[in-house]
Amino acid sequence: MALRSVETDGPGETESIGGELARTLRDGDVVLVRGELGAGKTTLVRGAARALGVTDPVTSPTFSIGHRYPGAGVTVSHLDLYRLAGLEQEEPELLADYFGPGRIAFVEWPQEQAAELAGARLHVTLSHRGGDRRRVEVEEPETLPPTGGAGR
Ligand code: ADP
Ligand code: MG
Repeated sequence: MALRSVETDGPGETESIGGELARTLRDGDVVLVRGELGAGKTTLVRGAARALGVTDPVTSPTFSIGHRYPGAGVTVSHLDLYRLAGLEQEEPELLADYFGPGRIAFVEWPQEQAAELAGARLHVTLSHRGGDRRRVEVEEPETLPPTGGAGR
């Protein structure tokens, strides 16, 4: 069940949605952000990071799997796993630096399912709606059918 489904008309509005959902997050939370290239995943994370006190520019991780930004009393992790087939390809100790106590993590992920990230607190799905219009859907994964089950 979608917690929220809205359409935005530009990057500023998508950043605002990111800011609003960030204010509901707690230390240790993971947010999975899905959608096609250019759908606005990084834009939404930028707005969320701002709301969490990040003042550094939030940019797409290009030469590493992620960035960590100091925020207000929390480190904001931003990972882009777009080009990866699965998290198991990464060094576990490298990933551990992005998750856990003292951190709130946003993970850009292109696929419908990501078993490795089953513990995520929120799933955000962005989709193109023509021009600068995007749909932003926010779901709590507890309300979704279990991943990896029969018939999926
Ligand atoms: P992704 O991380 O999903 O690949 P980005 O956030 O990096 O996407 O890029 C989204 C691009 O689309 C940016 O250039 C942004 O300015 C543009 N854009 C236009 N309209 C919107 C909108 N409503 N929401 C988010 N981004 C938008
Ligand atoms: Mg991106």
